[in-house]
Amino acid sequence: MTDAALVARYPFLPGSSDLLGDLRPSLQDLVSDPGYEPVRHLAREEVIAALGAKRGPEGSAPSTFDAARPEERVLSFLYSRMLVAVAPSSQRVARRWCEGVASSAASQLGRPGAPPEEWTGLASSLDLEVIAAEGTSGHLSIALPSYCRLSSSLREDRFRLARQDLRRGWVDVAPALGVELLEEAVRAYLSDEVALLRLDPELQSGIKEREGELLSRVSALAPAYTPGGFGQVLRPDLFPPCMKQIRSSLDHGQNVPHAGRFALASFMNKVGVEVDAIVDAYRGAPNFKEGLTRYQVTQIAHHDGGEGYTPPDCATMASNGICAKQLDEARPQLCADPARVRNPLNYYRTRTRSLVRSSSSPSPSPTSDAGAPKQGDASEAPKAGTGEPNAAPSTSTGPASTPSPDPARRTPAGAHRTA
Ligand code: SF4
Repeated sequence: MTDAALVARYPFLPGSSDLLGDLRPSLQDLVSDPGYEPVRHLAREEVIAALGAKRGPEGSAPSTFDAARPEERVLSFLYSRMLVAVAPSSQRVARRWCEGVASSAASQLGRPGAPPEEWTGLASSLDLEVIAAEGTSGHLSIALPSYCRLSSSLREDRFRLARQDLRRGWVDVAPALGVELLEEAVRAYLSDEVALLRLDPELQSGIKEREGELLSRVSALAPAYTPGGFGQVLRPDLFPPCMKQIRSSLDHGQNVPHAGRFALASFMNKVGVEVDAIVDAYRGAPNFKEGLTRYQVTQIAHHDGGEGYTPPDCATMASNGICAKQLDEARPQLCADPARVRNPLNYYRTRTRSLVRSSSSPSPSPTSDAGAPKQGDASEAPKAGTGEPNAAPSTSTGPASTPSPDPARRTPAGAHRTA
């Protein structure tokens, strides 16, 4: 399979822009030139497909993709990135989009008759050392370092190295497992190197103006948080000031110390935020790496048989310099009274208590205050001394990469493992 044929099928791969030849429209042309409407139409279909149901094997893909010329596919992928970048809650949308594109790629790789060189070619494009296993039907041999990189964020037992057939530095995997590993490779590449294209404000406005209907559909397909673990819809507006401040710092691309990252992940897990959404909270951080962050968040969430770590107590938060009680917006203030709030979880539970009691009522106003706690109420306080455990992994994050508008440009191999 030629490189051109490979990137025509997988237009997100590095090198895809080589297919464009002299066809190098500006981003503005891509947004507004009527001649590029077929490209924009294809991009809209692809984004909706990626955020919606998994696409089936070849033949069930939208016909417009099959009919499109290779250069149209490449340009439409670029326009897809632009749509994702301006979508409301773009970080969450980007994550779902990456997963959808990776899932679609896996369907293509797993279609009947897919040639082995398509698998190895895609792997090679992503700086993975993968060859077709000799004397087998569709098995892959993956060099040990590549296997470790691929499986580092996959927690299921079947991916464990100890369960694999390892010979002389090569891991032999059956076709189905090979496809799953390559799907993860695509997802990680898109998340770390491609998603969240940064556009200038004028261009963003132009896209939003033209694509309002599409962006509304995108929003509906990538809903916000799932219901919280406290028995009601999650209320980030009622998070304690320390957690709000950590989230704000991450959103603004500021570095947050390990203690703060751990506190936020453990807190969000305890109040019922799903792992994916916790990972999203770190996307703005310098050097954000999705695979590594996901692994660390999963470790925090799965600690102690799924109980998860408890966030550090307020005293520990204060000694770590990440207490923000001076920003407490509750009336009356909660953070000022350590008899009421010994842990950030107390704060959140107290502010949401009335919501739990009236959980049958429709969604509360996001600006409403759940009221002050009863004097001395510490019944829901975590046990003393359940602060940050020594064993807690660091939630290292790095910058959400600022990808080039050229989907072909990326950083060298090993990025997945770089803290
Ligand atoms: S007193 Fe506790 S809940 Fe309030 S900001 Fe400080 S650490 Fe957070």
